Amino acid sequence: MPPPVSPMMAQYLEIKEQHEGALLFYRMGDFYEMFFDDAVAASEALDITLTKRGRLKGQDIPMCGVPVHAANGYMDALITKGFRVAVCEQTEDPSEARRRGAHAVVDRKVVRLITPGTLTEDTHLDARRNNFLACIARVRGEAALAWADISSGFLGAMPCPTVKLGPQLARISPREILVSEAELEGLSGILGDRAPVLTPLAPVNFDSASAEGRLLELFGVGTLDAFGEFGRAELSALGAIIAYFEITQKGKLPSLRPPSREQPESSMQIDAATRRNLEISSDFAGERENSLLAAIDLTASAAGARLLERRVSAPSTDLEEIRDRHNAIRSFLADAEMRGTIRTLLRGLPDIDRALSRLCLERGGPRDLAALRDGLSLEAEIRSALPREGLPRRLMLPRSDADAAGDILRVLRSAIVDGPPASVREGNFIQQGFDDELDQERKLRDEARNVIAELGARYAAETGIQPLKTKFNNVLGYFVEVPPAHANRLMSPPLSETFIHRQTLASAARFTTLELSNLESRILGAAGKAEQIEKRIFEDLRCRAAASAPPISSAARAMAEVDLASAMAELAEARGWCRPVVDDSGALEIEGGRHPVVEESLRKSGGGPFIANDCELAPPDGDGPRVQILTGPNMAGKSTYLRQNALIALLAQAGCYVPARAARVGVASQLFSRVGAADELARGRSTFMVEMVETAAILHQADIGALVVLDEIGRGTATFDGLSIAWATLEHIHDVNKCRALFATHYHELARLSDRLGRLANSTVAVREWEGEVVFLHEVKPGSADRSYGIQVAKLAGIPDSVIERAREVLEGLEADELDGGKRLGGLLEGLPLFTAPVRSPAPPSPDETEVSGRLEKINPDQLSPRDALELIYELKEAVKRHR
Ligand code: ATP
Repeated sequence: MPPPVSPMMAQYLEIKEQHEGALLFYRMGDFYEMFFDDAVAASEALDITLTKRGRLKGQDIPMCGVPVHAANGYMDALITKGFRVAVCEQTEDPSEARRRGAHAVVDRKVVRLITPGTLTEDTHLDARRNNFLACIARVRGEAALAWADISSGFLGAMPCPTVKLGPQLARISPREILVSEAELEGLSGILGDRAPVLTPLAPVNFDSASAEGRLLELFGVGTLDAFGEFGRAELSALGAIIAYFEITQKGKLPSLRPPSREQPESSMQIDAATRRNLEISSDFAGERENSLLAAIDLTASAAGARLLERRVSAPSTDLEEIRDRHNAIRSFLADAEMRGTIRTLLRGLPDIDRALSRLCLERGGPRDLAALRDGLSLEAEIRSALPREGLPRRLMLPRSDADAAGDILRVLRSAIVDGPPASVREGNFIQQGFDDELDQERKLRDEARNVIAELGARYAAETGIQPLKTKFNNVLGYFVEVPPAHANRLMSPPLSETFIHRQTLASAARFTTLELSNLESRILGAAGKAEQIEKRIFEDLRCRAAASAPPISSAARAMAEVDLASAMAELAEARGWCRPVVDDSGALEIEGGRHPVVEESLRKSGGGPFIANDCELAPPDGDGPRVQILTGPNMAGKSTYLRQNALIALLAQAGCYVPARAARVGVASQLFSRVGAADELARGRSTFMVEMVETAAILHQADIGALVVLDEIGRGTATFDGLSIAWATLEHIHDVNKCRALFATHYHELARLSDRLGRLANSTVAVREWEGEVVFLHEVKPGSADRSYGIQVAKLAGIPDSVIERAREVLEGLEADELDGGKRLGGLLEGLPLFTAPVRSPAPPSPDETEVSGRLEKINPDQLSPRDALELIYELKEAVKRHR
């Protein structure tokens, strides 16, 4: 016998059983309630009170709840903490349930599963960032990656061998990854610890044949050929994404643009560590604030910002594409006035993509329709302000799309009021004059008194009874009132056929009429009717918008391009950036390059000017340097120089102008950046281990087209170990990887490698010593530093004078000893093995050492009083002094 539970609890348990992996938000009136373990977990995560409701198997049932009107905020908090939420709504009116019987339970259904990768509400999303869901699929040994942003309609796929998964996922930075249950194991290594939510799906969702069917149906096409030639693994990944949308959106399908197909090599490969080190889209603290993206983002619209993020996250390797993006910027540089007009208009642009996505998923409101109207209206205005000729295609909207967008715009303009409410329930969002029936209902509702008064005036005229009035009270509702003297006339034919007597008072007689009672019931029902009509009109407009999704999203995309290109032009002009030449030379030549973030922060803080520096790495088939070593003191600007050159290459290939006087960037297939001292203790790796794992990745992967930036490699271990590793790494990069590399180091001994390695050049950051203090010039020039100036920098940092003095003494001692090391390094240049230093036998202990250690051995520190201990120290000191 199953334990007796209330019918409602039985319904809850049945629904919960189908949504095991999610917190079930069970709608009860104005609240979403949670029960059992869900309640315990949610009350803890949300810090809300845990109560109880009823009992099951002799135990209290834990319960907690959140009010419906505030539910979004709570869901947001839960999603951020890694939960998934199943939203279970009442799908009938409670009165209907009551009609079935006193104990009938209101029908309920899960209408949506909210997961990190399927968010659509603005409250859950960062307007300026994409929110990607990714999917990894494998078919017969081939792997592929697909990713989608349901909130803005993006869908993409690429074949992706397992070794490339890490960098590609780092680039897409999804919030959730779908993977077949069968493949779950072995992924953790690729995803690392900062992994997004991993959602296992049953293998059936990955079937590539049914995936193809799903795609054909979604895009209403007979063949996928027009979108590109997708392999089975890509189809499987795309199909699983769509299957997941079906599962989470409960059958409602989002408006997705046709899948764009990429190849891993069509964008610059940048792995997670490089992204972190270069602080591309977030800084070391994980914030956007000091990142490259924040420093260069002058876009005016959310869609423009998202496009910039995508570009900077995946710089292209396609020369034509890159040049086309540069051309778009050039169009806006030519005419500052036009640019100004357009940028002012862009500032008012609503988020068309996200409004459209909500409408397609049947969760949008009147405000989303208004966003489409205002967006399309501004789009038309912006388009007419753009130059008629010579505009790159990416900035234009195809004629047919412009026409279709114009059609829906006209409808929305005549339909939706200014500043409509967010939800349909609030009503009053359809304009006067759009629908006659609605206007009439509203008239009845809003002008009830006037309509009745008009009727009264008509009756007075028709009956000739001037004092006839229409009135209202709560008992009779609306009625016609005449003085008693006129009552008889109304009660006699022919007027008695119209006027029905209701009440006679001393002062008046009251009547009703068929027309009046009809009118009354219409008035009372008018509010409800107006609401119904508005709902119907909304649904009609929503369907029209969804049917026009492709031209609307094409208009939105063109606007994002216009926003990005004009913002980049603004940036280039304001900060003196130049158009880089991007080619397939394999060279990197930068004249007067600057670091975009450091320069900006110096400008904001009123610091000195940023000193521009050149960089020259020759093509592989040339004879100039391919590897540049940079020595120089701490704080001189080595890291800044290294990163600025990497960022310039990245920006150039992202299709941006660059912070330099001139730049020629031979397309880089890969970008690697490593910093010597990045601790990842949380991942259980020491500083040095991290450094070596990352360096190993470069030595294994960097091809001839790569650009490698290594900062202080070998720093995390003992000096000679570190120097040796740095040395061997440099040799490997020079001789085996043969890629372009910039190598900053404290080991000025490495400069001597240029005697042996033909394509290696030395450079140093200039400093001047003045009255024992170091002055940073931040100027990179040929040559090498002879020392590190670490002590001077330590002094600047406020290390106590006594420590600085002592450090100088120690340094002098060490330098005197270094001759020996010099010989060893010299030997190495002639090809001797690295560790040939004679092993010195330890010197015999001095007499004071034996006496002191003898004494120390005899004592037990735990038994010494503080006084005894002090006494002992005096004695030991004496002993040492005696033997000097
Ligand atoms: P360390 O060896 O200690 O890591 P570093 O040589 O790598 O030092 P950076 O961290 O690159 O030095 O630069 C230190 C500071 O110097 C920067 O934060 C910046 O404020 C300033 N700086 C660096 N380069 C320049 C430049 N070209 N022009 C002006 N200021 C600069």
